Amino acid sequence: MDYRKNLDEMPSYDGVEKDYRIKVNANESTMNLPPLVEERVLNRLSYIAFNRYPNEEYYNLVEQIAKNFSADKNQILLGGGSSEIIEKIFHAFGGAGKKIIYPQPSFSMYKIYAKAAECEGVPFDLDEKFNLNVDEFIKKIREVKASLAVVCNPNNPTGNALTVDEVEKIISLIDCAFLLDEAYVEFYGHSAVNLVKKYPNLIVARTFSKAYGLAGARVGYMIANPEVTKMINKTFMPYHMNTLSLVTADIVYQMRDEFIPRIQMTIAERQRMIGRLQSLRDVEVFPSNTNFILIRLEKADELNKYLENLGIGIRFFSPTAPGLKNCLRISIGTRTENDEVFAAIKNFLS
Ligand SMILES: *Cc1c(COP(=O)(O)O)cnc(C)c1O
Repeated sequence: MDYRKNLDEMPSYDGVEKDYRIKVNANESTMNLPPLVEERVLNRLSYIAFNRYPNEEYYNLVEQIAKNFSADKNQILLGGGSSEIIEKIFHAFGGAGKKIIYPQPSFSMYKIYAKAAECEGVPFDLDEKFNLNVDEFIKKIREVKASLAVVCNPNNPTGNALTVDEVEKIISLIDCAFLLDEAYVEFYGHSAVNLVKKYPNLIVARTFSKAYGLAGARVGYMIANPEVTKMINKTFMPYHMNTLSLVTADIVYQMRDEFIPRIQMTIAERQRMIGRLQSLRDVEVFPSNTNFILIRLEKADELNKYLENLGIGIRFFSPTAPGLKNCLRISIGTRTENDEVFAAIKNFLS
């Protein structure tokens, strides 16, 4: 078979999926849609124009999002999850000789998207507490003459966040494009999206997959300056979003207030779990502004296997993942699920 050059060297996403009883490994919402929202979605799906390409459905959602951010319709693009959007942005700023810089450890896909875009991915190490040295990062972006700098805020998988002022400092002191991945921002509450008006080099990516529990529908969006949006739009195929996902996300967005209690519950549960995990000896718990918690312990590998045998799936990082040795990431579930996960961890340690 005569495959494309270097395809065999392409790393793949290493999330292992099993049929877990308690699935807290992928930062999904562990609850399906709120019943009221689900009812409206199912009703909407009963009158789909299956025979037509998605046009109106795409622009209806764009219009809603634009309105919410007091932005123009030509500042918004939709994608199959924000994954597709991020991949396309890497494509738009990649290619031979280009450099894309991102902190490390961060979202493992950045490295893969840089490879796919056939440019050089430049990881910038976080410190031992997983904090980003903003001044050094800015210096590095300038030094390597990056075409695109990426920051995930709050950061996956470390859970910590930069302040909006810190984010603004980076944007204002670099000349290249800046992609801010706000996949978890609803659990943080401090978005930099309003800075799009002020900085033509800022692109903000958001997703329906986490706080809005819509990982299965694959819908995300980005907001940027109209000229930037126009260029990135060239990298998408026509009609890349399907009508079923578009109308589903449209209803979810209309009814997004229904998700506020869940988001608040997740934040409260996160803080409760952080407190409980901190009470355990030999476990280092990192602060979190997301719907997951990163912990570090000597016996991470054994704990992961122990939980797996109990039907509990958490995220284990390969020993080769830079900076994440002996780290485990646990997503926040329902109170009952969290209690069971904590009891299992406690049992394992004693
Ligand atoms: C989950 C996640 C995304 C987006 O996921 P989609 O389901 O493709 O929208 C983007 N960035 C980070 C850091 C994530 O964790």
